[in-house]
Amino acid sequence: MKICEKCGASNSDARRFCIDCGEILGEKLSDFQEKQYREKISEQIENMYNKKDPLYVSFYDKIIGVISIIGVMVSLVFVVINLIFGKSSQALMMPILLFVLAVVEAFVPKITWSIEKIRLGFYANGADELEPGQIYFWCRKITMTLLVFVGITIIITSCLQ
Ligand SMILES: [Zn+2]
Repeated sequence: MKICEKCGASNSDARRFCIDCGEILGEKLSDFQEKQYREKISEQIENMYNKKDPLYVSFYDKIIGVISIIGVMVSLVFVVINLIFGKSSQALMMPILLFVLAVVEAFVPKITWSIEKIRLGFYANGADELEPGQIYFWCRKITMTLLVFVGITIIITSCLQ
């Protein structure tokens, strides 16, 4: 394989001029370079594909998910402390539920999308075939963030009491 220095197009070894821009081609790539080049391209394709999928679990989603897991654990510690001191943990049930929902939304978005499709099914026929769009993508991010935010707020206010 030969890579055009001017436009970056890949050309077969036999070509002397770039198939895209007509530039004179240099030496062909070594086997190792060619392997690296192919790996880079397939990585780019994979990234493109994933970024377009609204149900893709991004770095941000993972952070929210980890914060939610910590939130569940902290809540459970408070539940145990309350048990020891004979206090009620009712105020902690809500944040635990919110954190668990946020964990699901962050790490397994396909579950909430399936539920959303069932909901949409009441309004339109063929909702089963729907693909999540950009609006759903942003709703998902905002929902996750709100769940975590409200959960943390409830825990902090219950601690201050
Ligand atoms: Zn070229």
